[in-house]
Amino acid sequence: MSMVPYLLTAEGLNKSFDGFKAINDLNFVLEKGELRTVIGPNGAGKTTFLDLITGRTRPDSGSLDFEQTHDLLKLNEFEIYRLGIGRKFQTPTVYNDHTVRENLLLSLAGPRGIWHALFGRIRKEQEERMDEILHTIKLVERARDKAGSLAHGQKQWLEIGMLLAQDAKLLLVDEPAAGMTDEETQRTGELLLSLAGKHTIVVIEHDMTFVRQISQGRTVTVLHQGHVLCEGPVDKVQNDERVIEVYLGRKSKAA
Ligand code: ADP
Ligand code: MG
Repeated sequence: MSMVPYLLTAEGLNKSFDGFKAINDLNFVLEKGELRTVIGPNGAGKTTFLDLITGRTRPDSGSLDFEQTHDLLKLNEFEIYRLGIGRKFQTPTVYNDHTVRENLLLSLAGPRGIWHALFGRIRKEQEERMDEILHTIKLVERARDKAGSLAHGQKQWLEIGMLLAQDAKLLLVDEPAAGMTDEETQRTGELLLSLAGKHTIVVIEHDMTFVRQISQGRTVTVLHQGHVLCEGPVDKVQNDERVIEVYLGRKSKAA
C-alpha cells in the first residue's frame, strides 16, 4: 500500500451533457500540501471537474475519494463543503454590503453561525485568526471598508481569505487571474505561493505567465476533452508536442 498521503483521488470519472463527454475517463491524484495548476483550452472540462469534486454535478461513472476515507459521490454539496472542500468561483461572490472583516467573520462562523457572527460576541481566537488572514491577503488597511468598494483583484483575495477562514483543507480556485491587472495577477501568484504547503490548492488558469509563476518545481496538469493529456513540470508540459497543438496552438489561432 502507498504511503503517500493523497488528499484527492479521482478514478475513471465520466460526465456527459446531452451525449457530449465533458469529462472522459479522468484520472487525477493530488497529494496533501500540493499547489497544482490545471490548464487546458476552453471547454476542456476544467470547471466541470471542480463541479464534480464539490458535488454540484454528479458523474455518470467513476470514483472520487477525499483523504482516502470519504467517498465524495455518497455526499451532498453541503456535506462536501463541511469536509473542508472550499471553492472560489470565477466571479467573486463576497457580501458587498458587509465589511471585509465581516465577510471573513461570516466564513469563520460557518453557514450556521451568521446571526452570531454579526451580532454575537466575537471570541479572541476569531479576532486573531481574522487579523492573520487579513495580513495574508494583504487587506489589513481595507478591513473596515465595505467589500463592495474593493477593486476586482482585492475581492478575489478576500474570497481566498474566506476559504482560509472556513479552514478549507482543499482550496479550489477557478481562473483567479481573469480580469486582473498584471500587478494584481502577480500578487495573486504570491498569495497562492504563500499558502502552498500549509494548504492543498488546485488552481485552474489560462494565463501562462501566471501559471509559470506559481508552478516552478510543481506539477501542472493539462486537460483536453475531459481527459488528462499530459502532466509534469511546467517546462516539460509547455514543450510537449500534443499540448502545443491542442492548447497553445488553438489559443494562438483564437487570438
Ligand atoms: P472549461 O472550464 O475547461 O472551459 P467546462 O467544464 O466549463 O470547460 O465545460 C466543458 C464542456 O461541458 C463545455 O462544452 C460545456 O459547454 C459543457 N458543459 C459544462 N457544464 C454544462 C451543463 N451544466 N450543461 C451542459 N453542458 C455543460
Ligand atoms: Mg471554466
